[in-house]
Amino acid sequence: MHFFEYQRPENTAAAIAAAGQAKTAQQGADVRFVAGGTTLIDLMKLEVETPDRLLDINRLPFDKIEEMRDGGLKIGATVRNSDLANHARVQRDYSVLSQAILSGASAQLRNMATTAGNLLQRTRCVYFRDTAMSCNKREPGSGCPAITGSNRMLAILGTSDQCIATNPSDMCVAMAALEAIIHVEGRSGARTVAIGDFHLLPGSTPQRETVLEPGDLITNVTLPPPRTGSRQVYLKLRDRASYEFALASAAVMMNLNRETISHVRVALGGVGTKPWRSPEAEAALMGKRANVANFRLAADAALRNAKPQSENKFKIELAKRCLTHALQTAANG
Ligand SMILES: Cc1cc2nc3c(=O)[nH]c(=O)nc-3n(C[C@H](O)[C@H](O)[C@H](O)COP(=O)(O)OP(=O)(O)OC[C@H]3O[C@@H](n4cnc5c(N)ncnc54)[C@H](O)[C@@H]3O)c2cc1C
Ligand code: SF4
Repeated sequence: MHFFEYQRPENTAAAIAAAGQAKTAQQGADVRFVAGGTTLIDLMKLEVETPDRLLDINRLPFDKIEEMRDGGLKIGATVRNSDLANHARVQRDYSVLSQAILSGASAQLRNMATTAGNLLQRTRCVYFRDTAMSCNKREPGSGCPAITGSNRMLAILGTSDQCIATNPSDMCVAMAALEAIIHVEGRSGARTVAIGDFHLLPGSTPQRETVLEPGDLITNVTLPPPRTGSRQVYLKLRDRASYEFALASAAVMMNLNRETISHVRVALGGVGTKPWRSPEAEAALMGKRANVANFRLAADAALRNAKPQSENKFKIELAKRCLTHALQTAANG
């Protein structure tokens, strides 16, 4: 059994100073923030994460959703996923985000899960979650049994010969399409990170999943002002209708000028080692007529660099159909 100290820092500065003593911000961190606990406590029970200190950030002032002067939205780090998904502005102007969050987990989990915790949820790769197995992400250099083993759920985009784990978040896929900005406070002050730059590809360091450094606290996420007339769809395909992670998902935002696509954003889930924005699909769609033939060409472009493993080749066609259908639904909307 692993014992740990539990603390509730009085303010943001105290939280950052305490977390700044950790050797790493990610795998193996000996000091960890805890928000909803639905990822972290789970992994502590499995002894995949064994921090010595837990810093409970739920008392810090990051639990609000606020309108911004430019028309955008500021979402506090500890805003619960349920509150975010059901917020009137989110449902009206950023419905792809609401749809994505509501497609994930269960009502009980969404009531606990937070914005920042969701950004930092870990892979569901079965070897990562089992300390009896080797895993490069959990123990760098120990090997990746998934490559020759059970990999049906794992990634086909952004993989390396060190790790093929999928990023399991639904919320992050919608945020990638929305071009969210993540606000971080750390030992050297405040900074912002575009969501596309926040998660890292596994490469040769799969234990490093984001650009966060020891002490870094996510304080909020901002969304740019909404586009008038934006049609938004999140489509998630999975093994059962609820309480299941995506095999493939697509977040789509599209504006039409008559039948021509005048603006489009596309991101995929369930297939990438990070939430997967697809500039290839967007380039294939911009200025084109909104029809199934063009949607299918965009889906082909999005999956052109897919590298399947022994059990997940089916994901290529599944993701293409998922994206094609999401685009069609948005166009019809
Ligand atoms: C059974 C089950 C099913 C699920 N199904 C889905 C699903 O279908 N789709 C989906 O998208 N998700 C799903 N999830 C994942 C769920 O969405 C995440 O567990 C949740 O969003 C994590 O948020 P949290 O606040 O509980 O994080 P925590 O567990 O509190 O924290 C997670 C990580 O984030 C760090 N952290 C938290 N807040 C901050 C901060 N402000 N700054 C810096 N670091 C921080 C913590 O140190 C920790 O490392 C599921 C989870 C479970 C248990
Ligand atoms: S895919 Fe990644 S998380 Fe899974 S066993 Fe391999 S290294 Fe570990």
